[in-house]
Amino acid sequence: MFATLSDRLTATFKTLRGKGRLSEADIDATAREIRIALLEADVALPVVKEFIAAVKERARGAEVSQALNPAQQVIKIVNEELVQILGGETRRIRFAKQPPSVIMLAGLQGAGKTTLAGKLALWLREQGKQPLLVAADLQRPNAVNQLQVVGERAGVAVFAPEPGNGVGDPIAVARDSIDHARSKLYDVVVVDTAGRLGVDAEMMQQAADIRDAVKPDETLFVVDAMIGQDAVTTANAFLEGVGFDGVVLTKLDGDARGGAALSVASVTGRPVMFASAGEKLTDFDVFHPERMASRILDLGDMLTLIEQAEKAFDADEAEKIARKLSDKGGKGFTFDDFLDQMQAVKKMGSLKSLIGMLPGAGQMREALDSFDDKELDRVQAIIYSMTPVERENPKIINGSRRARIAKGSGTQVSEVSQLVERFFMARDMMSQAAQGKMGGLPGMGGM
Ligand code: GDP
Repeated sequence: MFATLSDRLTATFKTLRGKGRLSEADIDATAREIRIALLEADVALPVVKEFIAAVKERARGAEVSQALNPAQQVIKIVNEELVQILGGETRRIRFAKQPPSVIMLAGLQGAGKTTLAGKLALWLREQGKQPLLVAADLQRPNAVNQLQVVGERAGVAVFAPEPGNGVGDPIAVARDSIDHARSKLYDVVVVDTAGRLGVDAEMMQQAADIRDAVKPDETLFVVDAMIGQDAVTTANAFLEGVGFDGVVLTKLDGDARGGAALSVASVTGRPVMFASAGEKLTDFDVFHPERMASRILDLGDMLTLIEQAEKAFDADEAEKIARKLSDKGGKGFTFDDFLDQMQAVKKMGSLKSLIGMLPGAGQMREALDSFDDKELDRVQAIIYSMTPVERENPKIINGSRRARIAKGSGTQVSEVSQLVERFFMARDMMSQAAQGKMGGLPGMGGM
């Protein structure tokens, strides 16, 4: 799910790499690419329009971050907007102060409601709750039986009309289930309701009647992520006919484009609360908009990294450094500045953990394990052993000075030489970057 969208978006961001500044034309071109990516993924047009307008406006420089290059800024903006359309912050179930809490499931037939009831029940049990499943889907032959099977697998009780009692009245069953839960001390009641293959007035009325009978604390609209644009129409019909508090996306394991699923929360103004990605009872979890957005953008834990960079790098300080680096081929940049930068990086956390947050870090486990954070302490010791004049003007650090510095810092002359050479190399690279030839925060590589 979302693979194509993910590929297209990451390809778009690649074209921004290395740009020192975004021109109006860059922003337009990027916006166009994102638009195509979203439309191809089946995201509803009004959502796409709003999304693009927001990204464009913000990219035009409303927020110029010192710590991020333009590509990173655009990624950050797109990510935040994605989180927004998915419903913003993670929304947890609200339980009633007086048990039992009532959760009602609504949605079309085949959306995955009955399966979801089992998943939800198991999840609730793991949260220490005592759930009761209620079979108020008396329309579909076998629905009651299916719920009983699911309940058994989840290890939870099921409230259903006695077999052979005629067709049964789903509203009465739902109402009775609440009394039953109260007397048997079940603290969460999950009501499975009937769906039809398409939206119809009778089904909607029945769902509304059940709602009035059980007064749910949460009504969840269950939608199959594979049904494409119909998801939006169906969601709107249910919002009007029954009303709901949150959305549950099912069948996220399918290989559909998934954009419709991305649109539902935005169109209805109700957050996605749970996601289901498989037929097993455990293929289910609370939905975290920010994690889903990161997954779509293939960001690893880049966002945490970006946030830490923003916190660690003071904007005024960054500008001062940038000026030093862009003037006179970067000659104004000294070992003292180098030390400050290093300390800012250290403030972000250990280098090891920083690298671990980069996308693709999983493949460099071995290299990571051999990385020594003490390296930074040695570099720091060497710089501290330099005189202020040497730090200001590293060109004068000749052989005898290197020997003295090595002795003072308890390191080898070769280490001092290496550092001095690396300093000049880093200064050249950063100076080019500052002049817009490369772009990027030192050390943040190819983002
Ligand atoms: P209901 O009519 O809304 O109660 O839908 P069901 O719970 O009966 O589900 C319809 C079909 O979708 C069943 O075959 C389920 O096994 C299947 N299903 C439900 N959730 C998922 C899911 O997350 N992934 C996959 N692949 N199949 C699912």
